[in-house]
Amino acid sequence: MNHAAVIGAGTMGNGIAHVFAQHGWRVTLIDVSAEALERGMGTIRTNLDRQVKKGTLSQEGSGEVFARITTNSALAGAKEAELVIEAATERPDLKFQIFKTLDELCAPAAILASNTSSISITEIAAKTKRPGQVIGMHFMNPVPVMQLVEVIRGHATTDATMARTVEVAKALGKTPVEVNDYPGFVANRILLPMINEAVYAVMEGVATPEAIDTVMKLGMAHPMGPLALADFIGLDVCLAILEVMHQGLGDPKYRPCPLLRRMVAAGYLGRKSGKGFYSY
Ligand code: NAD
Repeated sequence: MNHAAVIGAGTMGNGIAHVFAQHGWRVTLIDVSAEALERGMGTIRTNLDRQVKKGTLSQEGSGEVFARITTNSALAGAKEAELVIEAATERPDLKFQIFKTLDELCAPAAILASNTSSISITEIAAKTKRPGQVIGMHFMNPVPVMQLVEVIRGHATTDATMARTVEVAKALGKTPVEVNDYPGFVANRILLPMINEAVYAVMEGVATPEAIDTVMKLGMAHPMGPLALADFIGLDVCLAILEVMHQGLGDPKYRPCPLLRRMVAAGYLGRKSGKGFYSY
């Protein structure tokens, strides 16, 4: 059986583990926090139960999927995996250390992938002795539902690594899109300037958040307005991604809106803090 290790059992990690296990992979889910592992496994259980209720998965099948996932609190749990997907906290120093350790632990043929939203795949790869086998596998939230996987080719990523990663993403029922490693990749490079512009529109009093979201939903057929989406992503996460693009590309068009900075400073982070452009 194919074996994947997923590093980080948070929002993205548990979803990634779920999808791999559902497609027949043995999965080792790794997190430094026992509480995060417990919560992550609880979320997978709840999501599997929902699939059973919807009739898209049998009770027996759901048990089999769950049984394919084991947990571990140490990176050493990834030792036997042929593919590692890192979905730990978005901090460069942390990811660099994780990849350095994985490189020492894992089989020489293993592919090391990162789900990072904004950190350079090329830089992560340079911390290892196998930069050709380091790649970005950028899943979207919620992972079991969203079709897209941005597959990010670092400066040294080989064609064989790219081909295998694309093949795996397809086997998971996803649609992989190949992208080169520049700040924001494609998804965030296009999405975040739109969100930032919507925040400028609020700041300049062009319209209320409700009005702006209604224009984009009804006028552009977006399923969710940009400000509701910003609240969903987290305003701190939006700010961090804009900072990376602003710094990495050096173009003032990516400068974060002062209102976004002010809201983050005030602790208005969106859904997770109960307040953002809307109240929850
Ligand atoms: P999260 O905070 O929900 O989960 C991160 C987990 O990593 C936590 O459980 C934490 O305990 C764990 N962790 C921290 N250090 C670790 C270590 N050394 N070893 C093992 N586990 C460790 O974060 P998230 O939202 O799931 O994001 C994870 C990654 O996915 C980030 O790189 C983020 O940029 C990316 N991402 C997030 C989204 C999103 O919508 N949330 C979408 C796409 C990509």
